[in-house]
Amino acid sequence: MVDTKNQYLKIKTEVDAAIHEVLDSAAYINGKAVQDFTAALNQYQGAGFTIPCANGTDALQIAMMALDLQPGDEVITPSFTYIATTEVVALLKLKPVFVEVDPQTFCMDPEALRKAITPKTKAIVPVHLYGHAAPMEAIMAIAQEFGLAVIEDNAQAIGADHQFADGSVKKTGTIGTIGTTSFYPSKNLGAYGDGGAIFTNDADLAHKMKMIANHGQQTRYYHEMVGCNSRLDSIQAAILNVKLKELDKYIVARQTAASFYNAAFASQEQITTPFVASYSNHVYHQYTLLLEGVDRDGLVAHLAEKKIPSMIYYPVPGHRQKMFSAFDLPNLDLKTTDWLTERVISLPIHTELDMEQLSYITENLLAYINR
Ligand SMILES: *Cc1c(COP(=O)(O)O)cnc(C)c1O
Repeated sequence: MVDTKNQYLKIKTEVDAAIHEVLDSAAYINGKAVQDFTAALNQYQGAGFTIPCANGTDALQIAMMALDLQPGDEVITPSFTYIATTEVVALLKLKPVFVEVDPQTFCMDPEALRKAITPKTKAIVPVHLYGHAAPMEAIMAIAQEFGLAVIEDNAQAIGADHQFADGSVKKTGTIGTIGTTSFYPSKNLGAYGDGGAIFTNDADLAHKMKMIANHGQQTRYYHEMVGCNSRLDSIQAAILNVKLKELDKYIVARQTAASFYNAAFASQEQITTPFVASYSNHVYHQYTLLLEGVDRDGLVAHLAEKKIPSMIYYPVPGHRQKMFSAFDLPNLDLKTTDWLTERVISLPIHTELDMEQLSYITENLLAYINR
């Protein structure tokens, strides 16, 4: 699904030098590399404040901890997302309230969001799924109307642009109260280990989240609040600093691969290629097709036989996970989510795909569909 090895080989000299610089400095934790990367990422995002942390799941947890949510408070999230988004809600003893996604963008449906709001609702967690922005203009308007915090889960969409009706453009992750992201190796900006970051324009929240990520302290050994230990290590930051300079090129490479797929599948009635809304671009963390009237298991097996990887993101939506069986989930009738779960299939998408590989994948997929 990804080819991080060949991607690394193209930047090996720079990455190896950056790693050796950290080794020579011996500043493994909170070193200069972390400060440099944090500043560069903050600038890239156009964010007010950027706080590095250990991974994208911690980023979500720290964001929710900073909002002072109380046990039982309701947090509205899509069910059609990676488990980390919703797991953190449960971990903090908050109540996950799952809502539908739009069948075209796979992102939170603002009308479903509005209907799910109760007096106990405190926060909304939209997910920019697969690299396409959630409809933030509508979501932010609803959040403002009801006085709710918004945490954007931007783990899959770093670098994506969201355009507003007035023509202004913002990077995803910088629109809500807080935005979070992940540097897991297969993410669009991937480290060679774990990493994550949090974005906000609110100075007080930034200060608080920095403390939470560091055992609730500002001054060493004086712990003002309960926090956790969540650090981005210097070696990962040094690697990310090299890769951040490549991110826009990486996005173009993914978009080029997606265009090839789109053209190859355009005339196929059984295949719906990824939709791109007018307010968003697509950074293709995943390239996900919707199949209609196709034996999906058969297709996956056929592709595997031809040594072509494919994945189902996600086979079981949040509201059907055993993890949440003890929760009194209010909204379980998620027909669009269930419908999507049965029809999606993701193809390999990354920065190293060449024409030969893309042709091989599309030809074999089409041979199965039209057999
Ligand atoms: C990857 C991912 C996360 C979690 O990131 P980790 O760094 O693996 O903890 C959270 N949400 C979404 C949507 C993701 O894809």
